[in-house]
Amino acid sequence: MKKIPVQLNPYIKTRQAYEKLKICHSCGRFTILGEKICPSCGKSSLIKLEKKALSLQRRGIVKETILILALVAAGIFFSESTLQTSLCAAGGVTSLILLWMLRRNTRTERQSYQLGKLLQRESFKLVDGLRLDREAAIEVFHNDEKQQAYEMLREIGTLVRTDQIKVEQILLLQSFVLRKDMDLMLEPLLLDHFNPDLVQYMGELSKLKRGLLKEKAFRYALIHEAQILRMKDGEHILIGIAGAAVRLKRYVILYPHLVMRYARKLPKDRFLRLYNVIRNNPQHNWGALGAEVSEIYNEKYKWDTQFQ
Ligand SMILES: [Zn+2]
Repeated sequence: MKKIPVQLNPYIKTRQAYEKLKICHSCGRFTILGEKICPSCGKSSLIKLEKKALSLQRRGIVKETILILALVAAGIFFSESTLQTSLCAAGGVTSLILLWMLRRNTRTERQSYQLGKLLQRESFKLVDGLRLDREAAIEVFHNDEKQQAYEMLREIGTLVRTDQIKVEQILLLQSFVLRKDMDLMLEPLLLDHFNPDLVQYMGELSKLKRGLLKEKAFRYALIHEAQILRMKDGEHILIGIAGAAVRLKRYVILYPHLVMRYARKLPKDRFLRLYNVIRNNPQHNWGALGAEVSEIYNEKYKWDTQFQ
């Protein structure tokens, strides 16, 4: 497959996945794509879900305030003395102040409660909206707008964590010329099963952005090691992944077998890194890995000035 050069737009992260979700004020369509224009009805009435929850919350406040005022009014109406009237009014004012204080202290909780209720009530619509979003991305893909299709799937993937969406993103990424300066990701794309395209992608990342390879990636490589080795460049990819693991002492301690099996074939700079991790931490019992590293050192790098 011929790889195409692309200029990917950066991926904007949000604290919560749902923060990117929007709802159409007019037709109720949910979407994670687009800013203002609703993809279903074409009106510029998309609003952030949080905003919607906030307006529902406000509606709740108005309802409660009206209820209290009505009770106070009824109290005043039926009171038989000035004392009773003033007690009613004072009681009303106190409850309004208490309610206001309570609201203020529990605003975020109430908002997430409203949000939860909204999502629960509209779950079918939400799923359907995201299905339509994916269909739109596939249509863009068929129009040969691969970069845009990937960016759309990347957005949908923040909420829809199915293997299908992940595999589609991996395949598109594998059709691009990847570069160091690109906004790439790995962990959200990791699958439970073996997938050669994902492994190829991990191999590329181990050269371009090894910082993206973390615990989950190393665990994936270990679980599927036998299958990776059966791939054409399998061993080469595993050497790259092991070379990414020597980046941190923690990874070397967590995955000594992965590192040990490929230590001999690591490029010099990666082996030097491993050698230093072990030499700088003599208090740790490195076991068989320590023995292997010193054997490789004695065989290949004993006289190398960089190792002194
Ligand atoms: Zn709409």
